[in-house]
Amino acid sequence: QETLPMIVSFNNALEDKYLRNLKIVNKLKQALIGNSKHLSLHYQPKLNLQDNQVDHAEALIRWNDPELGFVPPDEFINIAEQAGIINSVTEWVLNQVISDLQVFAKHDIEICVAVNISAQDLLNENFVMSARDLLRSNNVPDNAIELELTESVIVKDADKAIAHMKLLRNQGFVLSIDDFGTGYSSLSYLTQLPCDIIKIDKCFVMPFATQTGEQAICRAILNLADSFSKLVTAEGVEDEETLATLRKWGCQYAQGYYISRPIPVDDFVLWVKDWHH
Ligand code: C2E
Ligand code: CA
Ligand code: CA
Ligand code: CA
Repeated sequence: QETLPMIVSFNNALEDKYLRNLKIVNKLKQALIGNSKHLSLHYQPKLNLQDNQVDHAEALIRWNDPELGFVPPDEFINIAEQAGIINSVTEWVLNQVISDLQVFAKHDIEICVAVNISAQDLLNENFVMSARDLLRSNNVPDNAIELELTESVIVKDADKAIAHMKLLRNQGFVLSIDDFGTGYSSLSYLTQLPCDIIKIDKCFVMPFATQTGEQAICRAILNLADSFSKLVTAEGVEDEETLATLRKWGCQYAQGYYISRPIPVDDFVLWVKDWHH
């Protein structure tokens, strides 16, 4: 008898979640077709630790819906993947980045912008072709756009993932493996992966100051990357000490709140100009 109210509230919670997801899918679809002001990109700089310049950044999507309020990307990206509409999100992001690259060029900011792509994008032939067309028709220079993908693609279909990565790289994209160390893929794939950069996940970087275990993992990834001639970006750098340690260990790029939070494009332009002066 006592469990009955619990079951009822459990079902209500499931139903609420289901209805919220449904609403998110529908509203996101709307936002993606209309020239919606509710979707935007924020840019987070990646500091080049060799020369202290900012020549890389990551584009991160933001969605502010009038009714739902701010919906975190972690939430709606997952839902978009499940609903099979992530390709439309990625297309929107790529188009916005290409238009923002012109803003950067106007301000003499030469920068490689990273876009997050999902396993569904990478494994789709249409994506590989439309990405190429997008670069060509907009005269985007080589190495102006980086694609960040996670190890999960390797688990899904390694042969196809690797083949598509090669194509994208030949088309002029820089490729990086995001959240490195958190997936389930075998380290041996690293030798076959046609990528330029490895991103150490923030869970190994953030607790740096206090945790020697995470420091050891970072060092191991740096050594591993070095022996495969890959560059390394550490994300989640939140303090000076972590930055100094990563620099000492030869990490190439650092990204994190200590350097800057992700910020709107206009603020980012001002931030970079200020940094370089
Ligand atoms: P991610 O690709 O691993 O992005 C890094 C996340 O860490 C971002 O969260 C960023 O704001 C946050 N971050 C950066 N520096 C620090 C730091 O120093 N400390 C802490 N605690 N966090 C830091 P965000 O913007 O909320 O994005 C979350 C995730 O959503 C991303 O994780 C990515 O998986 C996904 N995402 C965001 N934008 C896009 C997009 O345009 N397309 C796709 N497919 N996924 C996206
Ligand atoms: Ca990322
Ligand atoms: Ca990441
Ligand atoms: Ca992540």
